[in-house]
Amino acid sequence: MQIDREYARETLVRLVRINSINPTLEEGAPGEKEIAGFIAGSLQAAGLRTEIFEPAPGRPSVAGRLPGTGGGRRLMLNAHSDTVGVKGMTEPFSAAVREGRLYGRGAYDMKGSLAASMAAAKALVDARVGLRGDVLVAAVADEEYGSLGTMELIERCPVDGAIVTEPTGLEVCLAHKGYLWIEVQVEGRAAHGSRFELGVDANMKMGQFLARLAQLERVLRIGPRHALVGPPSLHAALLKGGTGLSTYAPLSTVQIERRTVPGESAAQATAPIQAIVDALAAEDPEFRATVRPFFVREPFEVPADAAIVQAVDRAATRVLGRPPAHIGDTPWMDAALLQAAGIETVVCGATGAGAHAAEEWVDVESVIQLAAILAEAAIEYCG
Ligand SMILES: [Zn+2]
Repeated sequence: MQIDREYARETLVRLVRINSINPTLEEGAPGEKEIAGFIAGSLQAAGLRTEIFEPAPGRPSVAGRLPGTGGGRRLMLNAHSDTVGVKGMTEPFSAAVREGRLYGRGAYDMKGSLAASMAAAKALVDARVGLRGDVLVAAVADEEYGSLGTMELIERCPVDGAIVTEPTGLEVCLAHKGYLWIEVQVEGRAAHGSRFELGVDANMKMGQFLARLAQLERVLRIGPRHALVGPPSLHAALLKGGTGLSTYAPLSTVQIERRTVPGESAAQATAPIQAIVDALAAEDPEFRATVRPFFVREPFEVPADAAIVQAVDRAATRVLGRPPAHIGDTPWMDAALLQAAGIETVVCGATGAGAHAAEEWVDVESVIQLAAILAEAAIEYCG
């Protein structure tokens, strides 16, 4: 599949030069408005039909459609257009290229892959490939915070399969972890600091809980590992307790993040934490605590024999001259939402480094290769 290298490269430069920091992460940041306008214009010029979806004001996603002739499977190429902030970066919007690496915020996570998706669609148009199923280039808003963009597109743009193009170094990612946020509140009894006989110190009781939680954490990490993503884990991310120096702390709160592996449910992940609280309460009549899971993002896994995986495997093998590795990754991605909605999903994206870091770059040649892989995968999948 012939990729228009100039188009891919120029598109990548333009995407990186547009500030699209997620405004929920950083107040006053511009969000996806300007970048969505550029993407829509570019896809239209390339010959796609574009639609803008705006799940929240100023937070547009773009869907560019290459309509099929009918009867084939429909494929979404999914890339987020928002980025995290640029604190500590010396050249966040330069898109400077040195030794084949293009630098800037979002170059790797994930404007390189977005440019590749756009170039893949253009290649299909240019080659006049008459596919039976639709190909949809989805440039989604808000992946870095609440995934508003992908959630809306799942509703509004039904497809059969999706390739989430988060960076994988051109390997094929079949699984990633999920996460669960759990709040544990330990209750004490407020009293004057001099009146030990009246007070119950919630912070000291929290200490007992945290000691057991640390044991559980060690058990999790030496326990059964998922073949692709490794063991589950947890950390005591946020602690708050007490009201003043001369007061027995009436309340102590910890917010725990529990990273889950495919096959684990939120209930399974919560149960051992509840068991710690129950055990402490049985040992100590003054120990009182509640466990409340309050946010969940499910893990993701797709079988290696799914049609979407086979299509990307064959495409990548042709482009790279070798079969791609099947890998797992740790961070949560929109892939989990798509797969959970019944859309068979796989992750394959560009090569680079520095997601959310002070120096971020994408390998320009990998963007061209990814474009070829995506175009070939579309031909395989949408026939
Ligand atoms: Zn990303």
